[in-house]
Amino acid sequence: MGLFEGFLVTLRQWRRHVTIPYPDVKRPKPLRLHGRHVLNRYEDGMEKCIGCELCAGVCPARCIYVRGADNPPENPVSPGERYGFVYEINYLRCIHCDLCVEACPTEAITESKLFEFSFTDRRDAIYTRDELLVDDEGRPKKLPWEDWRPGEDEHTSAWMRATSPSGVAAYEGKVAWSGELGYGVRPPEAGQSDAPPAAGEIPAAAAVAPPADEDDD
Ligand code: SF4
Ligand code: SF4
Repeated sequence: MGLFEGFLVTLRQWRRHVTIPYPDVKRPKPLRLHGRHVLNRYEDGMEKCIGCELCAGVCPARCIYVRGADNPPENPVSPGERYGFVYEINYLRCIHCDLCVEACPTEAITESKLFEFSFTDRRDAIYTRDELLVDDEGRPKKLPWEDWRPGEDEHTSAWMRATSPSGVAAYEGKVAWSGELGYGVRPPEAGQSDAPPAAGEIPAAAAVAPPADEDDD
């Protein structure tokens, strides 16, 4: 190939932009992107976290610190006996694996899709319960060092778990979590498999009954 032909190859690529002027422009984020966490509330405003510490126990990076306390009878924080009165996540360690989300029995901890946050002080990397807890509208609190754009909080915890409950494809399309403040009961995630397998195709070890669904026949 001569010099002129070589330049032609370059010129033919001239108008094919594969980059965007980020951060002025953000592309839509993938459905299952793991961003910074939120602590959710039920639709009546009560906190979902019961301070059980399962998320802290399962975290491979040891970056969650939870302490539970008995709910004050006259003014309970959560529907259970206990609530998480201390909840911290250290984002200098978090690898966004979402095992904490998988482990949580009440869907209290989920992840938004926000990854645009950074710190100039290491202490800011430790998110506290007050920062993680959604506000009175059920929306994530937008902290000064975070770059939220309009509409991005709509996608908070749009998926609840990395897999359907117990990982069985037969659960696909079935709601298996509770409603949350500001969003209600989120629709079930689709697309975990091309087509749900017939009952006989489910491996014996995973062949458990899908949750009862009154809408199902
Ligand atoms: S996403 Fe993974 S590393 Fe981060 S807090 Fe949860 S369990 Fe720990
Ligand atoms: S976030 Fe979930 S797993 Fe973690 S302490 Fe609260 S209820 Fe337990």
